Amino acid sequence: MNNNFEQVNCAVCGADNTEKICERGQFGLPTHVVICKDCGLSYLNPRWDKGRYIHFYEKEYDKYYRPNVQKNTERAGINYYQPVYERLDKSGLLPENIQQVLDIGSGDGNNLEYLMEKISDADYYAIEPSEECRKTLTSMGVKMLGTDIDIDFHEKFEGFFDVIIMRHVLEHFANPVSAMQKVRAILKDDGIAYIAVPNNLKFGNSKLLDNWFRVVHTYYFNVHSLRNVFRKAGIKTLLMEEGDKYNQRELFVIVKKGKVEEVDVKSENYTIQKDIFDKKLKGEKTLINKLKRRIKYDILQAFKTKK
Ligand SMILES: [Zn+2]
Repeated sequence: MNNNFEQVNCAVCGADNTEKICERGQFGLPTHVVICKDCGLSYLNPRWDKGRYIHFYEKEYDKYYRPNVQKNTERAGINYYQPVYERLDKSGLLPENIQQVLDIGSGDGNNLEYLMEKISDADYYAIEPSEECRKTLTSMGVKMLGTDIDIDFHEKFEGFFDVIIMRHVLEHFANPVSAMQKVRAILKDDGIAYIAVPNNLKFGNSKLLDNWFRVVHTYYFNVHSLRNVFRKAGIKTLLMEEGDKYNQRELFVIVKKGKVEEVDVKSENYTIQKDIFDKKLKGEKTLINKLKRRIKYDILQAFKTKK
């Protein structure tokens, strides 16, 4: 599979005015992280083109990120949807009568089971690219809407969903604004969406170059840039929190339909993100760390090509 790249402008302000942060990320894969100097949105540019990403999600993602799906062995003990439900429940923002739930980027369905237990009267729908995971979801009675947020599924489901879950998926999309516009269209007027993304102002001890920056993460949100995405897409923020007892490095929000608003474009938002990345990368970009990574990725590559 060829690595084809495409150039993209800032999804929030439309500018092409960026500061380069790095060229490689986790697994040594090409990960050109930049920050928009105008509005502070951080994203990949250039990035793999759509065809390359589709191939990766359908055929390669599980190998890197869900080895258990492939081996069909015991699943990991962590249930990622427990915090989703507990946070929703605690917020008091769940609609009273929940009939239709959509989970975007469900994975293997292991986590969705938890939600299906807690909200048991609803019909469940999913969008999921992985072939293996789609089989599991279908066997659980989850209806598949499609493989990708970018396909046209939304016209048939306008104003249909009471609850939409997007747990660590928005940072994977080609365009978060158009994804949220679709979410807006398919939500009921009193429906809500739960969205969680990695928080790029609070990544704790995570190594940026070895772990945090990933070819699959096309966007790197923080409170400021995420609000801008919502403003542009006509999404109203009901709750936004930076970490809790379940996860300190996660930014999670509960939103509903709102009005399109002017985005907040100021260079201060760029400086905030840039300073935090720079501070962390100073330690990671030393010569010895560069060499260590080089050796690690050479071994990994040799292993992947052998398979
Ligand atoms: Zn921008």
